[in-house]
Amino acid sequence: MPELPEVEHVKRGIAPRILGATIKNIAFSNKVKQGKESGKETIIKGTTLDEFIARTKGYKIEHVYRRSKYIFIEIENEQAHHILMCHFGMTGAFFTVPDLSDIAIENHKKHWHVIFELDNGLKLIYTDIRRFGELRALRDLNEYPSVLKIAPEPFVEEAFQHYSEKINERKFINKPIKTAILDHSVISGCGNIYACEALIRAGILPMRTVKELSKDERRHVFNEVVNVLQEGIDNGGSSISDYYNADGEKGSMQDKHMVYGKKVCVKCGNPVEQQVIATRNTYYCPNCQK
Ligand SMILES: [Zn+2]
Repeated sequence: MPELPEVEHVKRGIAPRILGATIKNIAFSNKVKQGKESGKETIIKGTTLDEFIARTKGYKIEHVYRRSKYIFIEIENEQAHHILMCHFGMTGAFFTVPDLSDIAIENHKKHWHVIFELDNGLKLIYTDIRRFGELRALRDLNEYPSVLKIAPEPFVEEAFQHYSEKINERKFINKPIKTAILDHSVISGCGNIYACEALIRAGILPMRTVKELSKDERRHVFNEVVNVLQEGIDNGGSSISDYYNADGEKGSMQDKHMVYGKKVCVKCGNPVEQQVIATRNTYYCPNCQK
């Protein structure tokens, strides 16, 4: 699943190629059309397909940015300003290519779902093998209030204060620290892989409750989440199974993993254990983590 570093990488890949371009046309795959007809809301959420087109066709791409694991593309025409919001789910990806046939990865080419034809000769193509991702054309962010609850970006100064206050709330204080840091109202953009990797780096067992952690341990966890997300960005993200960035390239963060997806701990060589926490498969080293 693309997490913050992977999404950041996608944003950096697509932004220079789509900024300033106008969306000329939008095409949907049969799966998207059939999904709408059967009320399943496949990928395009919150509007009908016609309404999605009405809110995006003829609009110029003014700004592209990432918040947590979402990409926001601000678009406008003379009358209105809208936001195209994207979440990649498990296997979503964007490609910017002259034509669908230029996507070199067969599985992504086959599972294209939305094509934005731009006036600069490129197409912005959303592909998604498992179809858990979503695209929304919003008039403004109030139309999708869940994104307004996202914690500040982990790299900004107020993020630590926000995290410290949030984990002290009743909703999190008796929960495992892993559950807390996976929640985007606590820290934005820390998914399962990076949560596991941050906790081994902090030397903290994922199932310990927030209440049990000292002030120093809580700070340590936060710092390691920030470090591991930054390291992920610097390495172009982790490439697990079907994840590719917008250039069709794989990141190399998976080579830096200490426990995630490992049989033995990279730090000490002892067996890595697994446990389901917050519905996610959690990897940890009982030797390095206390
Ligand atoms: Zn270890």
